[in-house]
Amino acid sequence: MTECLAAVVTKFNQPLEIWKVPIPDLAPNSALIKVDAATLCGTDAHRWQGHLTEGGGADLPFIDPVTTPFTPGHETCGTIVATGSELRDILNEPLKAGDRIIASYPHCGRCYYCRVARQTTLCANNISFGHSPPSALLGGCAEYHYFPAGASFVRVPPEVSAALAASAACALRTVMHGFEQLGPIASHETVVVQGCGPLGLYALAVAKDRGAKKVLVIGAPAARVKVAKEWGADAVLDMGEASSADDRLAWVRERTSGRGADIVFQCANSVAISEGLRMARPGGRLVNIGVTGGPPLQIPPILFFRQVCINCVVMAEARHFYQAIDFLAARRKYFNFDRIISGTYNLEHTGDALEAMAAYREVKPVILPAGTH
Ligand SMILES: [Zn+2]
Ligand SMILES: [Zn+2]
Repeated sequence: MTECLAAVVTKFNQPLEIWKVPIPDLAPNSALIKVDAATLCGTDAHRWQGHLTEGGGADLPFIDPVTTPFTPGHETCGTIVATGSELRDILNEPLKAGDRIIASYPHCGRCYYCRVARQTTLCANNISFGHSPPSALLGGCAEYHYFPAGASFVRVPPEVSAALAASAACALRTVMHGFEQLGPIASHETVVVQGCGPLGLYALAVAKDRGAKKVLVIGAPAARVKVAKEWGADAVLDMGEASSADDRLAWVRERTSGRGADIVFQCANSVAISEGLRMARPGGRLVNIGVTGGPPLQIPPILFFRQVCINCVVMAEARHFYQAIDFLAARRKYFNFDRIISGTYNLEHTGDALEAMAAYREVKPVILPAGTH
C-alpha cells in the first residue's frame, strides 16, 4: 500500500475533489491509521468557507493560517495499520496494529508552554489536524491518517462507536478542558449553556454529570433542541422562540431567582459572550468555548462590574482526550450519545457534509471513508 484516497478542498466554498495521495514514511513514534470515522465540526465548515485564512498571527502563534489545497477533518478515529516504532498509549500500554485509537495534536515537548506552563495547546510548534496539504495525510477525510510523533494516543474501547470516539477528539475533549478550567460545580449551582451544537450538548451532559442543580440550555435549531431535552436539560429555550437578547436574559433570570446563573458555558459564538456575561449572576463564572463566527465582539465595559470570572478554552490537552473517551464509555447508560451523530456520508460526499454543517442542517455529520470503494 503506497497511496490512498483523500478528500481535498482545492478552492474555498467549492465542491471538493478526491485525490490519490502517497502514504508517507513512518517516523519513529508515529502511527498510520485506517480511518474508521471522521466527524466534522463548525471549524471544518469555517475552514472550507475560507473564514480562517489569516491564522492567529503574532497574538496566536499556535493557530496556523488555512491555505488550499487541504484535507479537512480534525476529529478522527481509526485502526492502527502500522507504527514507526514501538508505540504506547497515554496509559503506557503497548499499541499494535488492529488497535482502535484517537490522538491528541502533537506538540514539541521542548518549549516554555510544553515544559514550564504545561499548556501544550499553546505550543507554537503544535500540529493541528484538518488543514494540511493532502500529501501530509493529516486530515480525517481520507482513507488513512498519519499521526506524527508527539501525539498522545487514547485507546477506544469496543463499547464506544468510531463516530462517537471521533467526536470526542474535538467537541468533547474541548468541553472536558472547559470543565477543568471551571473547577468544581456545587450541588446548588445552576448552569446555563449557550448553544446546543455538539459543544453545547456535551457541556450539558458533563454539567449534569458533575452535579449541577439545574442545567438550562439556549439554542437552535429544533433538531438540536430536541437532543438537549432528551439528554435531561432542565429547561430549553429555542432561539427561534426568543430572538431578542432581552427575552433570553429574562428567561434565564426567571429560572435563577432573578440573580442569573452561577455558571455559563458559552458554546455558541464569540458574540454570545456579552449576553453570557449578563446571564451569569454577579460573581459567577463563564467558560468561553465557542470562538468562531459572528461579527466583531463588543462588550459594554460596565458588564465587567459584575465580576464574572471568564475562562477561555481552545483545543485540549492529551488528558482531556482520555477523559472524553472515558466519559462516553462510562456514561452511555445515562445519555444516548448516538443522538449527536446526525448524518452519514462517504468520502466522495465530504463536500455535502461541509455544506450541510455550514447551513446548520447537521449536528455532527460523520464521514466513513471505508465505504468509499
Ligand atoms: Zn472540531
Ligand atoms: Zn512546545
